[in-house]
Amino acid sequence: MKNDIKEILISEEEVSVRIKELGKEITKDYKEKNLMVVGILKGAVVFMSELCKRIDLPIDMDFMSVSSYGKSSRSTGEVKIIKDLDDSVEGKDILIVEDIIDTGLTLSYLTDNLKKRGANSVKIITLLDKPGRRNIQVKVDYLGFEVPNEFIVGYGLDFSEMYRNLPYIAALKEEVYNDEILNK
Ligand code: 5GP
Ligand code: MG
Ligand code: MG
Repeated sequence: MKNDIKEILISEEEVSVRIKELGKEITKDYKEKNLMVVGILKGAVVFMSELCKRIDLPIDMDFMSVSSYGKSSRSTGEVKIIKDLDDSVEGKDILIVEDIIDTGLTLSYLTDNLKKRGANSVKIITLLDKPGRRNIQVKVDYLGFEVPNEFIVGYGLDFSEMYRNLPYIAALKEEVYNDEILNK
């Protein structure tokens, strides 16, 4: 697996330090609120579990699974909910947890969707941001790290369901994903 990695962009230690900082910030900001943390499956799972341990407040945790239709490079793509939340969001202060924002399509759809259901507030935390690829503007309230326009794996992020368990954040070698595409 290590042979497929082009470069480690963010080490295990760096991620851990940043998540502690974000946890402190969120603890301060949500003291008087009714925090519900919503993780987007599956990429956000590793980040969300580490983050929640650093939030010193009573919180609800839930998950959603979505899939994007059409090319993600198109701003008109559709988003479909595959797994919805278990409970109502009415009156809750929602914090959506994402692994990475690329075009912005997924988060722009989810933010609107949760607001329409009567959430008190909807904010976004993402571990990674690729700002160079944005098609739809979304307000990122909390950010772990900016990353270059590479294919990123590790810390929850996959390529063909692999590499999610890498403890660091890395760029995948181009030949790995090019090979996969050619073999299909
Ligand atoms: P968006 O709707 O912002 O274009 O899509 C974001 C989603 O695309 C992320 O949640 C993630 O699942 C996927 N994605 C975008 N860029 C990358 C990347 O570099 N690596 C991986 N593993 N997934 C990515
Ligand atoms: Mg995702
Ligand atoms: Mg994926």
